[in-house]
Amino acid sequence: MNATPPAYAAHVVTPPVSLSPSSASTFDQCPRRFRYSAIDQIAEPATNATAKGTAVHRSLELLFSMIDRGQRTREHASKFLAEACEELSQDGTFSGIADFPGLEKFISLAETSLDGYFSMEDPNVPVAILTETKLTRLLGQGELRGIIDRVDEAPDGSLSIIDYKTGKPPRAGYEDKEFRAMRTYALLLREHVGKTPVSLNLYYLRDGLRLTQPCDDRVVTASLRRTQALWSTITTSCEQDRFQPKPGPLCGWCAFQPFCPGDAPVELLNTRIRRT
Ligand code: SF4
Repeated sequence: MNATPPAYAAHVVTPPVSLSPSSASTFDQCPRRFRYSAIDQIAEPATNATAKGTAVHRSLELLFSMIDRGQRTREHASKFLAEACEELSQDGTFSGIADFPGLEKFISLAETSLDGYFSMEDPNVPVAILTETKLTRLLGQGELRGIIDRVDEAPDGSLSIIDYKTGKPPRAGYEDKEFRAMRTYALLLREHVGKTPVSLNLYYLRDGLRLTQPCDDRVVTASLRRTQALWSTITTSCEQDRFQPKPGPLCGWCAFQPFCPGDAPVELLNTRIRRT
């Protein structure tokens, strides 16, 4: 990654054209980080963790989309994982990871997530009507967007959203925050198919743990209001070119730390990162 953010004109910030659940979460976590990633569009380098997530998601996407229900096996998942890793090799993702452990070790780590998935459910049971599907809706002058991992349809026609996680589950008491993105997906799904999902499901693959919350129109409407309020806050931040850093434990995992002024007064921030 280029360790120096690009130059930009003083106090003129164009709002991002779109907002995803992950960029919304970044703004909540640290507005300065949001500025670097969503507005300056400085790409964060892949890590072993993000690459593993990509490979496992792709493997499960192919398992559901390429193999008929009733014929999906663990061997298919491994075959698709190898294909996903080949795609990541080809696009240069692995060569950009500083501490990449080697392909064999990487695949072995990713296989543990697939083992976890198969311990949670038989992929031949769910009727998946959508996999890895990008959905959008208007949000102010911009667009709300999200990629839903999977939507299942029950025999009674009700829908459930599934989101795969390859990281650690949240600590007890912090589960609800993990569902914020899911509520946004529910909003997008309702717009797309005209039906509100009845359940939101997070699959923590490594641990074989499923977290589930019920969903209804009230939940989706609250999500819409929250997203609109967040968009309004982001628009105001752009008008004022004000994106405060919020230093905390997550700074240790932030790719922008080398040039982030951390707790410096906000007036100094633009001076420090702007090239003249
Ligand atoms: S290093 Fe910390 S304060 Fe700076 S942008 Fe990253 S998360 Fe925010």
